[in-house]
Amino acid sequence: MDLGLKGKKAIVCAASKGLGKGCAMALAREGVDLVINARTKETLDATADEIRGATGAAVTAIACDITTPEGRAEVLDAAGPVDILVNNAGGPPPGNFRDWSVEDWQKALNANMLTAIELIRLTVDGMIERRFGRVVNITSGAVKAPIPILGLSNGARTGLTGFCAGIARETVRHNVTINGLLPGPFDTDRLRGNMKLQADRAGVPYETFAKQQAEKNPAGRFGTAEEFGAACAFLCSVHAGFITGQNLLMDGGAFPGTL
Ligand code: NAP
Repeated sequence: MDLGLKGKKAIVCAASKGLGKGCAMALAREGVDLVINARTKETLDATADEIRGATGAAVTAIACDITTPEGRAEVLDAAGPVDILVNNAGGPPPGNFRDWSVEDWQKALNANMLTAIELIRLTVDGMIERRFGRVVNITSGAVKAPIPILGLSNGARTGLTGFCAGIARETVRHNVTINGLLPGPFDTDRLRGNMKLQADRAGVPYETFAKQQAEKNPAGRFGTAEEFGAACAFLCSVHAGFITGQNLLMDGGAFPGTL
């Protein structure tokens, strides 16, 4: 299927690795020019080279922290008018809510709610004027079913989802859609890092622990960044203009509900 995205321009945040990179690569394969971002310049530049080599897309790499006003300004300046915005940032740490201060909450809300809202605020009116826009927020399966040790994530991402549920109904009239993509367990550095901690705590070798976790999923495996990117590209496509304010859970069927 031709997704109709050739010549469009996208910002993909937090995209040197993992799910963000999967989205960037999938969009580049559709002929989308990219501005990608992450904090570590070396990894980001290597990813930009990899995407250019694999797809021939124009890729501008901006090494900065997207959760800061300066970082967002740098990315937006480099991009100019954009058609697609993929919001992403690192997830907050796990823990017990009794240990979290207001500052911990402010950090999580800034990274996983306010940064995305601010980037939407600064791009959405241009999309509306040009009568095409796609915003995809990478959030988490925690939006659908809270994960007890990830209270900061549960709270911040649900806030973003609630806000977007409102504006997504206003922008769609102008062919600007806003949707959430909710990852369950995907085989990325973040998942591997979390599992390594859990395996060490349980005194189990990492490989054994990871295999057990993958087996527990109805799909018998973790998702891949390529699968995630393909879903993102479809939500950004010209065919998805009637899908807005939705939250697509990608978890191999782990969420047990009928709906
Ligand atoms: P990952 O493999 O660790 O990649 C994270 C990417 O984000 C890296 O490119 C990282 O590069 C960049 N990044 C982190 N903080 C940033 C910041 N402040 N500014 C700019 N770039 C930043 O993680 P992932 O698995 O792809 O996860 C992406 C998001 O999905 C996270 O919010 C995560 O919590 C969420 N999620 C993931 C899963 C999963 O199974 N993988 C499940 C549920 C939710 P630098 O470190 O160099 O900045």
